Amino acid sequence: MNTTQSERLFVQAQQLIPGGVNSPVRAFRSVGGTPRFIRRGQGAVIWDADDNAYIDYVLSWGPLILGHAHPQVVAALQSALANGTSYGAPTALENELAQLVINTVPSIEMIRFVNSGTEATMSALRLARAYTKREKIIKMAGCYHGHADMLLVQAGSGVATLGLPDSPGVTDATASQTLTVEYNDLAAARQLFEQHPDDIAAIIVEPIAANMGFVMPNEGYLQALQDLCHEYGALFILDEVMTGFRVAPGGAQARWNLDPDITCLGKVIGGGLPVGAYAGKREIMQMVAPAGSMYQAGTLSGNPLAMAAGLATLNTLLQPQVFDQIEQSATKLVRGIQSAVEAANIPIQIGSVGTMFGFYFLNSPNAHITDYASAKQYADARSYAIFFHLMLEAGVYFAPSQFEAGFVSYAHTEDVIETTISRITSVFKELSNADG
Ligand SMILES: *Cc1c(COP(=O)(O)O)cnc(C)c1O
Repeated sequence: MNTTQSERLFVQAQQLIPGGVNSPVRAFRSVGGTPRFIRRGQGAVIWDADDNAYIDYVLSWGPLILGHAHPQVVAALQSALANGTSYGAPTALENELAQLVINTVPSIEMIRFVNSGTEATMSALRLARAYTKREKIIKMAGCYHGHADMLLVQAGSGVATLGLPDSPGVTDATASQTLTVEYNDLAAARQLFEQHPDDIAAIIVEPIAANMGFVMPNEGYLQALQDLCHEYGALFILDEVMTGFRVAPGGAQARWNLDPDITCLGKVIGGGLPVGAYAGKREIMQMVAPAGSMYQAGTLSGNPLAMAAGLATLNTLLQPQVFDQIEQSATKLVRGIQSAVEAANIPIQIGSVGTMFGFYFLNSPNAHITDYASAKQYADARSYAIFFHLMLEAGVYFAPSQFEAGFVSYAHTEDVIETTISRITSVFKELSNADG
């Protein structure tokens, strides 16, 4: 067989960039094969360097809630671009996006923009430590909050995909300040507070654990974590980098009536450009320099292109019916997968909230995944890898690891969803025939 462009580019990339990629999961390690080098995207579809088209359910790992190259976002970027790319001085665009987020996400009174989700969570923790004058933090096993040292302890996403233990380079001193418990285990979190009643600055948690697949919070779990923090004088940090503007316009906190002290945002609020933000109660946010003493800065923070793309994305998303339509597409997709699976008699666990979804292939029909321990035990990576490649051949691009969520956009119209379901149905038939 002839070498494809993606194969050629990947060989070249591996000489230039560690593993050939600038973020680990892109390398297809858990599913095998050659990552597709992407040349362009339009709406729900991406094209690789060999001009194969794929319906895209990765959407740059969540940001592209309107789809690729949405006309409004492209127009906003073009008009911002004509005025230069960065000033290192404040712009009206930052006020506008800040106001929009504050109006939409219930707990947020002030916001600081940064350049990535990693920066957002790292800064949020520094702020929580500064505010409480305490050092320890609690995170949940399998939750991913970016790659800052103190958060690379039992982390999800690429760390989970590659089966890595905690990363070398993270010092014992740093790791020892991060306490971990299983997601959905309230009693274990309470026990940590009982053991360290005056030392815990904050809990940081993903409202849906969507970097170890797609694990829903138990009923009341997040509210109970919030209460627990306040009982012990700690802050409740909700990492909505993925769920913000995705599970509801106001995020998971709006959907489930939470009132976090600090919220981390990223992904959708940058409309596909590099953005993150940490935000929350005025009294806490006033500690951030130069209003207060907790230092945090960024040469390109609040970048005008990123602000313009974020504003165009959110302004379009918040038009009547837009979010609802995307949510309906996600629901329809998940129902379609479910019926295809039932017909093929393949055990999977699947769910969706708002415009996000996820599914696991299970290695046992009665397994139920509720945390990282059960995800590692019951997720069938081999079956997922086979499914993934069959879908790729059929022109559908899911995440190259089942420890990642899937995303739907405004461009995933009914037609697109129906096409996807019919391709999935054929692939499941093929899989069940191969098994039987
Ligand atoms: C993606 C993600 C991050 C990290 O954001 P980056 O922009 O990749 O640094 C943090 N937290 C959650 C929940 C995420 O999904």
